[in-house]
Amino acid sequence: METDVRRNPALLKLDLYCRGIRIDESCLLEGDGGRQILRTRAGLGSGVELILPGGLWTNVPVTETFAQSSPYVLHRDVRGYSIRRHGERGRVSGAGIQMKVPSAEHIARVALAPRPSWYDRKTSTGKTMTRVGTLQGTYLGIYPAKVCEYWVEKPKENCRFCSVGLNLGTDDADEKSVSEVMEVVRAAREESGITYVDFNTGHYEGDTYLDILEPYVRRVKAETGLLVGVQTPPHHDLTRYRKLREIGVNRVSFCFEIFDTEIFRRVCPGKNREYGLTRYLEAVRYCATLGSTGRGFEPWVSNGEIIAGLEPAQSSMAAIDWITAVGGIPTVCVFRPLVGTDMEGEAPPRTEDMVPIFRRLYQACMEKDLPIGVAPNVHVSLVLLPEECRWLMDDPHRYWWKELRLKAKAAAYRLKFERDVKRALAAHAA
Ligand code: SF4
Repeated sequence: METDVRRNPALLKLDLYCRGIRIDESCLLEGDGGRQILRTRAGLGSGVELILPGGLWTNVPVTETFAQSSPYVLHRDVRGYSIRRHGERGRVSGAGIQMKVPSAEHIARVALAPRPSWYDRKTSTGKTMTRVGTLQGTYLGIYPAKVCEYWVEKPKENCRFCSVGLNLGTDDADEKSVSEVMEVVRAAREESGITYVDFNTGHYEGDTYLDILEPYVRRVKAETGLLVGVQTPPHHDLTRYRKLREIGVNRVSFCFEIFDTEIFRRVCPGKNREYGLTRYLEAVRYCATLGSTGRGFEPWVSNGEIIAGLEPAQSSMAAIDWITAVGGIPTVCVFRPLVGTDMEGEAPPRTEDMVPIFRRLYQACMEKDLPIGVAPNVHVSLVLLPEECRWLMDDPHRYWWKELRLKAKAAAYRLKFERDVKRALAAHAA
């Protein structure tokens, strides 16, 4: 593996997740068209949105305590933005990975993720558009309903790392109508070129989350043809996911976060009480079997989402192996001890311990021939994508023939996607 972060953007992305960045006073950020640093939605992101070399989008921790002592500093000069590193030289880890890091030196030229022109506009009901939906990387993320109920129970049973209940009502509007969401989706499609809309909910008593989301999904699919995903707890009635696939959903995601049952119970008390790890896993497995049914060439992915750094690396890798063995694709976040959460005092994981997990992510997806990196123009800032982890391989050409197949698949998907969008827009305009 290339261990110099100046030449390995995936390693740099990972190291920035684990160490954060300081912002030099030369930086204007929003004044230069960048995105505002928000407290997170959906529990994980909170930082500055940057585009690294190689076109890797990222969200780098800034506000958390550990970021204040980061060796990385974001600078601005006449040529734009760059990351410099102050302090330490190389570090050696228990995992045997030595990272070559120069002292006080230029690391990389970067770009600010552009702040969308529509963010500050109002919907026809008077809500600021960015309080209805925000771009995370290049896709639109929407949390359409009220706050996750684990946050309002007494005592609270929220996941210990989560900040969703800290944010709503400040950065985010509380509830959003289907029409308001459609106004924002249209603005984001026309002005930011989004291809994918992601709907996210927490837990609601009575499993109402899919009922809540269905009207949004139907309108987005019918009127724009964009790719749509939903991230909710696992519904008791798994056949509901067959129906979601029929109405055009392309991705379902189940965040069980932790594969170790005891740690899961401790860190996610609400999820453990209401669903249990087993039901999360069963939902990932069941939904993965739907890939070969129904709507022909309509893309469909079942994701199991975990947070690396909350359990031993071996356990995260076991989760990756389990998810890919049943045909699902893992989404692997890096634990970020967000300000204000129950875990804000914890240390972030070490990059060296994360590398084997993300390397395994790429390997496992390639071994199982999973369709990674085929959705058009989806860059994700909050996680290292499986295809980006190719940079962490000791032998990056090992799966070259499979990569060629994936490229062909991506080209075919893009054509179909562009056709679907044209059709939907024409039908809606008629
Ligand atoms: S289920 Fe857990 S992670 Fe998701 S919103 Fe609720 S408390 Fe946060």
